[in-house]
Amino acid sequence: MRILLHACCGPCLLEPYDALAAEAVVDVCYANPNIHPAEEYERRRDTLLAYAEGTGIDVVEIPYDPSLWADAVAHAGEDRAARCRACYRLRIGMVAAEAARGGYDAVATTLTVSPYQDPDSIREEGERACAEHGVRFLPTDFRERYPDATRRSRELGMYRQNYCGCAPSAAEAERDRASRKAARAAARQAAREAAAEGAAEGAADRRAGG
Ligand code: SF4
Repeated sequence: MRILLHACCGPCLLEPYDALAAEAVVDVCYANPNIHPAEEYERRRDTLLAYAEGTGIDVVEIPYDPSLWADAVAHAGEDRAARCRACYRLRIGMVAAEAARGGYDAVATTLTVSPYQDPDSIREEGERACAEHGVRFLPTDFRERYPDATRRSRELGMYRQNYCGCAPSAAEAERDRASRKAARAAARQAAREAAAEGAAEGAADRRAGG
């Protein structure tokens, strides 16, 4: 079987590629018009290409056109789940079109290695997008392999991004980091206050015990 594997970035490629390549011939397609800004797109692409070159993996890149992503998600507004669904469908659809042109048997995506993505939406939108191009979509769930993907990408010194890809996701990730930081600070403050209270009660007990 020949599979065309949609890859979002180098770190996410590692484990899904190895899993699929154990049983099929796998080529990779970099189709990610969601990534913002262009420099980030290039950095993720170049990370992936460097790994592919070193390991003999064939990669086809679909030319970067962020307006395709903007048009595809325009209807979603502030609805993140709807935005991501449209994003999955767009990217997997681009890979499906390429797979149909290249005579591949099936399409899969590395997206399901990430615990931050929704595997059910990916499967539904992947099946829909692939059906439009007459290609089979391989439903996968690689989340169990995420720790290994993280470890290996660190060992390889790969660039590891800290947001999903689109401009809204960068802002969302920044907000999440700020709120986690505030929660940690609040927990530390609460611990300090509890310790101070305990020390004051201890001192009072010692005085009362006289
Ligand atoms: S958060 Fe990620 S999956 Fe969702 S729309 Fe943005 S880039 Fe696409």
